[in-house]
Amino acid sequence: MPGEPDSNRTKAAHRGMPSAAASSFARFGVATLAGRLAAAATRFTRSDGPTVRGRVIRRVDPGALSRVVRRQPWVLVVGEYGTTVLSSLLVSAVRASHGTHETRLAQTRAEDGTDGVLSLLADRTVPELVVVAARPGDAVDLLATGDLPRAIVLFDSSGAAPNPRYAHARALHRAIGGIDAPVIANAVDPMTVLAAGSARRISWVRGDRGYHDQLLCPGCGSILTGVDDAETGWRCPRHDYRQPEPDYRVQDGKISDADGQFWDPRLPLPGRLSLDQACFALAAAETLGIHAGTVFVGMRKTRDALGRFGTVTIGETKARLIAARHPAEWIDALTVIDQPTVIIATDDTDLSWSWDCDPGALAGRAVIATGPRAPDVTARLALAGIDCRDVPDLSGALAGHRGGVDVLALPGAFRTLLRLSGRS
Ligand SMILES: [Zn+2]
Repeated sequence: MPGEPDSNRTKAAHRGMPSAAASSFARFGVATLAGRLAAAATRFTRSDGPTVRGRVIRRVDPGALSRVVRRQPWVLVVGEYGTTVLSSLLVSAVRASHGTHETRLAQTRAEDGTDGVLSLLADRTVPELVVVAARPGDAVDLLATGDLPRAIVLFDSSGAAPNPRYAHARALHRAIGGIDAPVIANAVDPMTVLAAGSARRISWVRGDRGYHDQLLCPGCGSILTGVDDAETGWRCPRHDYRQPEPDYRVQDGKISDADGQFWDPRLPLPGRLSLDQACFALAAAETLGIHAGTVFVGMRKTRDALGRFGTVTIGETKARLIAARHPAEWIDALTVIDQPTVIIATDDTDLSWSWDCDPGALAGRAVIATGPRAPDVTARLALAGIDCRDVPDLSGALAGHRGGVDVLALPGAFRTLLRLSGRS
């Protein structure tokens, strides 16, 4: 399967198009045009342009994903959360290594799914590298296109409900076992270890974060022991399944590379989570042949990650945007807020997990909740004794702040904030 459409294309270019290839190209051209028109139409609606465009392209040309992916070198970054910052750090490392102009590199957002990949790459070839971020289910679809990524990064599987989480891990295990791409995988997450176990070449990463939402052995269902043991890590008491020895690790705020050398990351991005993301990005960049020293030079230039941790001006308010759609991101976000006013901008995302997160860091600050789930936030904070004002309209919540504000935003609200600030 790999290579077949490309060889058809090459022949077509040289001696007139064979009819099958010609009709396939015509279909792709029509699909791209239809997608562009659909995206333009979304300017008049509240829909998300890139995703709509990709959906239309796929409907007109079902083979479009395979066609666009194989036109450029790519790295696949897989996770239920945290993939955007990780991808941005990796892009920065590659840019530092090659002195690359930004048009030669690109990254996609996992939340846009494979439709986002289609939208970005349908009429554009990225010559150096595209970092494709994907949720586990989408990653399986991308690997099924038959084109080999330069590397596969398995960051995290937590947050998904147990059954899909297991099903995705099994599907990734099968997909990865059939190809020869180097894999960088999270040694601390037992389900990711299952997914990565079939890889022919693998680097294990031990980040700072523990995994108390995966206490059962994915193989036999036994309760894992040693989950809180930072040195040995988890192991199954019934069969030979244990936390792999890491090749890369985060320890006491430092990151060690494959040679065991410790680096002080001095990242411009806040939070402990970014250390884990940088450790994975380092492992991926070294797989691409980039020296660790260069990787850190590049990562230190990552000012914001597609708007995450960036400060924007909306009206007269300077707002630092912190994306938080997952409990791990939420817990990390609460450690980095430093403004007296915090706005929690919700969308339709279910927030039941917020009851498991300690909101203590918000005490003593002026807290405003906005968006459709604002009443859920005010109820949660009331239980913790924290006052929270409910301002349903996002623009109203942002208005009238003389100093800066921190905005913790769910994905839909985050996109709206970027749009309001003129960034997308
Ligand atoms: Zn077991």
